[in-house]
Amino acid sequence: MIDVIPVAAGVWLARCECGATERFPDAEQGWEWVLSHPCPDETTDATDVIDLTEPKGCDCKP
Ligand SMILES: [Zn+2]
Repeated sequence: MIDVIPVAAGVWLARCECGATERFPDAEQGWEWVLSHPCPDETTDATDVIDLTEPKGCDCKP
């Protein structure tokens, strides 16, 4: 589900329905991103193509 939640002081985590996440300094930017996220087509996620199309959809820490 789409969600934008505070994860730390000044850090908001936006999460898209497709599972992609991105951090932002405020909730407004998070919602802007999540609502316009170009979700990968479910019919094309069969192979390793996902890694190339979602370079920012990671759980990496700063
Ligand atoms: Zn998405």
